[in-house]
Amino acid sequence: MSQDNMSHDPVPLVDIRAIYARLKDDIDARLAQVLASGGFVLGPEVTALEEALAARAGVGHAVGVASGTDALALPLLAAGVGPGDAVFVPSFTYLATATAVMQTGATPVFCDVDPESFHLDAADMARRLAVLPEGLRPRAVIPVDLFGLPYLDPALEALAGAHGLLVLADAAQSFGATRSGRPVGALAPVSATSFYPTKPLGGFGDGGAILTDDAALAGQLRALRMHGQEGGVARLPGGLNSRLDTMQAAVLLARLEVFDEDLARRREIARAYDEALAGRVGLQARPEDAQSTFAVYAVLSNRRDALRAALVEAGIGTRVYYEEPVHRMPAMGHPAGAAPLPVSERLCTEALALPIYAEMSDSQLERVIDVVRAAL
Ligand SMILES: *Cc1c(COP(=O)(O)O)cnc(C)c1O
Repeated sequence: MSQDNMSHDPVPLVDIRAIYARLKDDIDARLAQVLASGGFVLGPEVTALEEALAARAGVGHAVGVASGTDALALPLLAAGVGPGDAVFVPSFTYLATATAVMQTGATPVFCDVDPESFHLDAADMARRLAVLPEGLRPRAVIPVDLFGLPYLDPALEALAGAHGLLVLADAAQSFGATRSGRPVGALAPVSATSFYPTKPLGGFGDGGAILTDDAALAGQLRALRMHGQEGGVARLPGGLNSRLDTMQAAVLLARLEVFDEDLARRREIARAYDEALAGRVGLQARPEDAQSTFAVYAVLSNRRDALRAALVEAGIGTRVYYEEPVHRMPAMGHPAGAAPLPVSERLCTEALALPIYAEMSDSQLERVIDVVRAAL
């Protein structure tokens, strides 16, 4: 590594402050409007955002909620999923995919992932479905669009169809992606996304949305985000207080104005990394029919910890995605070592995220590439 590379400013993993700096005038104006209006909960900005999200996803309805986690829990609650129900989830994911299931009282059933796509492995799920413990009813499956790559597997659709399972897409990382010419939101009957600040379409706090073409379900979800209320009376069981904050909607409307540019830049950065690092690191599959959001740009290496140390030393932001396969986490009630899921376990020892954000400069990108190439 050259001295020159050592002397530059740090490169963060993502740069939230750069987003505000770039969009300050628009965001300030929109927030001032909310402050003046006093409509802090479910104000007109929320409705405007919901309409823009639904249009972009090519679905009839978007329902804004308080977080991506609630966006996963609410469709399960709407379907009456609860204690005694099994919901299939991948183990290589952010833990919220499973904690959302647990919020309903249902049991997450962990499945392994495909080693190329890092997506839920339908064949592994079929094996687990066949040996489901007595007393658990299979009810739903949550495929995850990991790192922003949309899930698409006819085998999973067939399996879910054969067993009458609800398919709920965890699109927390993939809003704005497309697969097979269809936008995320239109790829599953119901999809949940997140506006956590580090997501590609991030707000300045928590937020999420549910996307669906099903008008009746959208109506139920609108009631469930307000305690199951309809006409001032709690009608539906399982309701939460889970509204999307108007200030977050205002920020997100500003971010949507430049979202296509942001996605184009993220994809350009990912292509540059792919070309510069191919052969030195393992990468997630890049299906030709997919346009990922690259919410996370992950490399795989059996020298992951040495690579991480070199990046930290050079002042480059990095993070392990994910530290532990979810099925091994103590809160899941599965003793460590039980139900081995070999691909998920290996990925947790090899995957490392590199900086990726729309405001990243070419010189920052080159610096990251230099450091990775020198370390491996
Ligand atoms: C971020 C994320 C969530 C949860 O979203 P929050 O808005 O943080 O609640 C769920 N699943 C995945 C895969 C995520 O990356």
